Amino acid sequence: MERKVRVRFAPSPTGALHLGGVRTALFNYLFARHNGGDFLLRIEDTDQTRYVPGAEEYIIKSLEWCGLKIDEGVSVGGEYGPYRQSERKALYKQYALQLVESGNAYYSFDTPEELEACRKACETKGETFIYNAQSRKNLRNSLNMETGEVQKLLESGMPYVIRFKMPDHEELHLKDIIRGEVKFNTSLLDDKVLFKSDGMPTYHLANVVDDYLMKITHVIRGEEWLPSLPLHVLLYRSFGWENVMPEFAHLPLILKPVGNGKLSKRDGNKMGFPVFPMQFTDPETGEIWHGYKEDGYFPEAFINMLALLGWNDGTDQEIFSMEELCQAFSLERVHKAGSRFDPEKAKWFNHKYLITKSDSELAGILNEILQNHGIQAEQPKIERICGLMKERANFVTDIYNDSLFFFKAPESYNEKDTKKYWKEESVPLMQELYAILEKIDDYSFSNTEKIISEWITSRELGFGKVMNPFRVAIVGAAKGPHMFDIIEVIGKEETLRRLKKALETL
Ligand code: GLU
Repeated sequence: MERKVRVRFAPSPTGALHLGGVRTALFNYLFARHNGGDFLLRIEDTDQTRYVPGAEEYIIKSLEWCGLKIDEGVSVGGEYGPYRQSERKALYKQYALQLVESGNAYYSFDTPEELEACRKACETKGETFIYNAQSRKNLRNSLNMETGEVQKLLESGMPYVIRFKMPDHEELHLKDIIRGEVKFNTSLLDDKVLFKSDGMPTYHLANVVDDYLMKITHVIRGEEWLPSLPLHVLLYRSFGWENVMPEFAHLPLILKPVGNGKLSKRDGNKMGFPVFPMQFTDPETGEIWHGYKEDGYFPEAFINMLALLGWNDGTDQEIFSMEELCQAFSLERVHKAGSRFDPEKAKWFNHKYLITKSDSELAGILNEILQNHGIQAEQPKIERICGLMKERANFVTDIYNDSLFFFKAPESYNEKDTKKYWKEESVPLMQELYAILEKIDDYSFSNTEKIISEWITSRELGFGKVMNPFRVAIVGAAKGPHMFDIIEVIGKEETLRRLKKALETL
């Protein structure tokens, strides 16, 4: 019987969710939607030493901002809960014991000092210590003890861990949806700890048990987990769950914009782009990390950008709505190689989305920025400005920065532009223009354009000879949209005031 597709995003709450983590969540989400399946959120918080307060809320809020709706899991509930591993603590031990009983795992009583001594001893020989089929024979574990002795140690409260008994010299041929066949030799792997005497499972045990109990059909996660794949597959085998083992897909790394290696949070700081979806304040250091949200990205643009980091649909299409992504997405089209993060491309995506937004939606955002700067303006004016300025903006803040002259007369004039465009001959021309503008009442684009163009033509003046100094007077620099648009927005009174001031000052 075909099983219903069920995938999970299983972050550990050890800090803010990095770009790569969001992309993992996104690919899980898209895969679930494409296949009519469920998208689960499970919090893997078995490692209490790495727990960061606030991280879980941050993860949930970030997914929400990105529009990745959780079907089941922490914060929404579901049939297979609880979805926070710390709340499932009680159920893992029986599984660890099951493996001990079936001979796939064993107790190890080695003290940290003993293990450290082994490590040192190996080091002096130029070797690395691994707890495996060779070394386990000489270590303090239940494989080398009588049952009674083991029992006694356990009863005496001797600290122990339960380790997986990694088979010796077995060549595993495993399937990864993205990479195809991946081979591992078990003799290179160690006897990983599955369960600790503090009653907590390790990631490996909890992850496999939960995927099994939550009926996960596909495990889609970052490449850094590929080395754990053989252990996980062997765990399924040891539990006798092979027939319901999920399929695995390990996503390629997101690489630094330049140089080698994985994109790190420090790269963002160094190069001035966020690596987190939303702003995050590290509760320990107080350090504040930038977020895409606060930097003015639209969630759709952020998601679209992420989707193309390591995936495409086989065509040149780059702009995808969430719905199109859900339709087009397949794991087979995810690349094997890492994908380089390009902060400029991220801005380009935002621009692409910004220009499709209605002027009124943009005006809402711009108005907030204006108010934060103590600027009051009417909605229609703000909308008009958004319409005029959006083609050149990546962010609404760009619109704000480039359109201040709509709200405030220039306090100074750009030196270079003034030198270039405000010539001696400009003065009489601007005086003449002033006289014409004074007589006009209808400041609509079409009207001022008609009257001023006619005057320029009749006087046989080049267009630039008039418009350039006029722009310097009104805007304060050689920038901005069409002059007739600008004066329509600021109106007659303000136009005349600014022109007059320029004539007096320059
Ligand atoms: N808790 C692991 C992480 O933080 C999840 C790995 C997996 O998806 O199996 O990445």
